[in-house]
Amino acid sequence: LSDKLDKALHVLKGHGSITEVNVAETLKEVRRALLDADVNFKIAKDFTTTVKEKALGQNVLTTLQPGQLMVKIVKDELTELMGGDAEGINLSGNPSVILMSGLQGSGKTTFSGKLANYLKTKKSKKPLLVACDVYRPAAIDQLHVVGSQIGVEVFSDRGNSDPVAISKAGIAHAKANGYNVVIIDTAGRLAVDEAMMTEISNIHKAIQPQETLFVVDSMTGQDAVNTAKAFNDVLNFDGVILTKLDGDTRGGAAISIKSVVNKPIKFIGTGEKMEAIDVFYPSRMADRILGMGDVVSLVERAQEQFDEEEARKLQKKIAKNQFGFDDFLKQIQQIKKMGNMKDLMGMIPGAGKMLKDVDIDDDAFKGIEAIIHSMTPKERSNPNIINASRKTRIGKGSGTSVQQVNQLLKQFDQMSKMMKMMQGGGGKKMMQMMKG
Ligand code: GDP
Ligand code: MG
Repeated sequence: LSDKLDKALHVLKGHGSITEVNVAETLKEVRRALLDADVNFKIAKDFTTTVKEKALGQNVLTTLQPGQLMVKIVKDELTELMGGDAEGINLSGNPSVILMSGLQGSGKTTFSGKLANYLKTKKSKKPLLVACDVYRPAAIDQLHVVGSQIGVEVFSDRGNSDPVAISKAGIAHAKANGYNVVIIDTAGRLAVDEAMMTEISNIHKAIQPQETLFVVDSMTGQDAVNTAKAFNDVLNFDGVILTKLDGDTRGGAAISIKSVVNKPIKFIGTGEKMEAIDVFYPSRMADRILGMGDVVSLVERAQEQFDEEEARKLQKKIAKNQFGFDDFLKQIQQIKKMGNMKDLMGMIPGAGKMLKDVDIDDDAFKGIEAIIHSMTPKERSNPNIINASRKTRIGKGSGTSVQQVNQLLKQFDQMSKMMKMMQGGGGKKMMQMMKG
């Protein structure tokens, strides 16, 4: 029973529902979070519009916990925007050829190593790394260092300056030596240019990889979108790799890229070490982008403030014996707004008893409301003055009987007493009363 009491108190205090102002405020905060996370302005705007429509459609304002529902809608929507369930890598070929693309410094070489390590240790594959960055000798060395770190062979040909030929030779080497995955690391430039695009496109055409991945540095923010688009136009790539998410970037590029090229984000890089690779989970990314903690606490704060203010007013009235039918009516209306009557009724002291014989649905309060509406303001704030002739008048006005009016007055009196006791710390007394 004391469990129930706790709940009851909670419900009494929690009558405040989130207001339309709160929804607008929340959405403003969400939009700010998106912009902070480097999401494109138009995408952020469209997003909040969609969320608002969904929220209104689901009647967020009238549910039991509007704040939580609101947060859920925002998160679900964002998750969907980034692509639903995690997508794997196509490993159907023999060998499966995976081509890396992206700008210089985006993390291709590092990720090639991470992916080889991941496929070797987690998927029991036998991968081969192929060095096709022919412009800097250091690039080939770098891949060899990576390969030796993870115990994966690296195919390279330092005398050859044709990446198409090297990639073909690499695949042939894999076939001849029983490798079932070939990861081709390529050269990138600092910005999109024709030479780079032609080269990667030629490699792509020549080897027809099972999987073409576009690697992008998540810290490049808005620029990432243009780069992704340029590469996708030429390669029609299969997936995106988002690197350097270990920094303090929130990773809004994920949303923008996904919205523009509509390709799944498959993996993320979270550090320089070979183990710093993770499958991409849209819902985790949604948390990160929203800085979910912030938004959740904002919503909760807004609601608490509202609840506390209402509760304080109510407490004062009860303490001063000023709790009248107007307040009661307000309570009923708020309860109705919250929906799900059956659950709620059980939590409110006195009310459960009061509605014992009534079918609990939205009409449950009709008679009660009608009676209260037929009272004068004076009668509502001071029910003691309701004498026999007033009762007759109220009964007629509300289409009920004098008995029904009497019943409501009696129950209201009981309820007021109970509330007063609760306020005065008379918890024990009330428990006895409720038991008896
Ligand atoms: P590439 O030019 O595309 O091959 O890029 P690299 O693989 O050489 O990476 C460029 C730099 O970024 C290197 O210093 C890497 O150590 C670093 N890097 C790559 N991925 C990550 C990552 O996920 N987190 C961090 N912090 N650094 C990374
Ligand atoms: Mg490289």
